[in-house]
Amino acid sequence: MDLAAAARERGIKYFLISFADLFGTLRAKLVPAAAIAQMQAEGAGFAGFAAWLDMTPADPDVMAIPDPDSLIQLPWKPEVGWLAADPWMAGKPVEQAPRVVLKRAIDAAAAQGLAMQTGVECEFFLISPDGSAIADAADRQAKPCYDQSALMRRYDVITEICDAMLELGWHPYQNDHEDANGQFEMNWRYAPALVTADRHAFFKYMVKSIAEKHGLRATFMPKPFVDLTGSGCHAHVSLWRAEQNVFADPTGELGLSGLAYQFIGGVLAHAEGLCALTNPTVNSFKRINAAVTTSGATWSPNTITYGGNNRTHMIRIPDAGRFEFRLADGAANPYLLQAGLLGAGLDGLAGRRDPGRRLDIDMYALGHTVTDARRLPLNLLDALRAFAADTTLTTALGAAFSDAYVKLKTQEWNAYARHLTQWERDTTLDC
Ligand SMILES: [Mg+2]
Repeated sequence: MDLAAAARERGIKYFLISFADLFGTLRAKLVPAAAIAQMQAEGAGFAGFAAWLDMTPADPDVMAIPDPDSLIQLPWKPEVGWLAADPWMAGKPVEQAPRVVLKRAIDAAAAQGLAMQTGVECEFFLISPDGSAIADAADRQAKPCYDQSALMRRYDVITEICDAMLELGWHPYQNDHEDANGQFEMNWRYAPALVTADRHAFFKYMVKSIAEKHGLRATFMPKPFVDLTGSGCHAHVSLWRAEQNVFADPTGELGLSGLAYQFIGGVLAHAEGLCALTNPTVNSFKRINAAVTTSGATWSPNTITYGGNNRTHMIRIPDAGRFEFRLADGAANPYLLQAGLLGAGLDGLAGRRDPGRRLDIDMYALGHTVTDARRLPLNLLDALRAFAADTTLTTALGAAFSDAYVKLKTQEWNAYARHLTQWERDTTLDC
């Protein structure tokens, strides 16, 4: 697609050439339509060190080359066209850039004639602009999930976002109030992994932008309030060969094929390392491994287990032909989430991995009876160490990415560890 022509046809005055760095932050240049032809060919220039890309101030320009297929006119400002871009440097794609990492994983699957389709369920809170409390003071039920009144008090915001998705052709199909006070979820149809990753990145930006328009603030922080259910980002996964879903098998256990179970076996085998990507912040570990919330359940996993239509395990098989990965949270980088799942799953196929036995028990109530269930990492540092030690996963995602990610995230952990908390003072002053 010729972007200059698209600008003329659609009334686009500016393009936002955007890429997600290793921490998931969207970095962008706002480019007038008059300059887009050159940018489409050569990319928009960035100083890589200024973003989370593990570069130095001495590195040459990063050129973000927009993918025209990703073009989205901002529904709340259609004169701006958003474009997901791939960072390049010195004539080559930046190996550690998340979108480049995902495309490499997609290519590895394509080499076997396979393509992953995925849908994400992004939970978020609507909070006060200063971030201190949920925005709706009347939203106080102990079990607030699906609360009709609390949902409808946010009708204007939720429908503005849903209308936007309808217009963009994402096929949204439901919106609800989630299990925490102030928490919502909006669902749209699954798509090929790269399409969903681009939409996921854009969705987070859109929700924050539209909330702001309404005098609110939206957050995808995994656990913004300690007593309330955290924000997950469940992913529903299937694998396709051309038009055929190869996870579907009507004769298979719960309607899943042997290939699907091998893929699940791969995700389970690499879960500790995967956690560093799908639960990438210090705060992420306050959602998983959490104490029971005021609603009665955390809805997040603690163990590396799978079950049928049962929400107490890391993987749920809700239906024939797909599984739900329940580990990821709102902080997950949209590209690394999919790349990690695909990398782990493909290893499952390569090694014909056995996922072990399915558990059909309430893991929250009876988890202690399963003595051989592996536990998820308890904090970001443990997850990073597990990731660094998982050479299958680090090789699948590329050494340049894996080294950069572990380095930058370990720096983040160290910054946190140096932070003196009130809890320490309260519990240690009188030691
Ligand atoms: Mg949910």
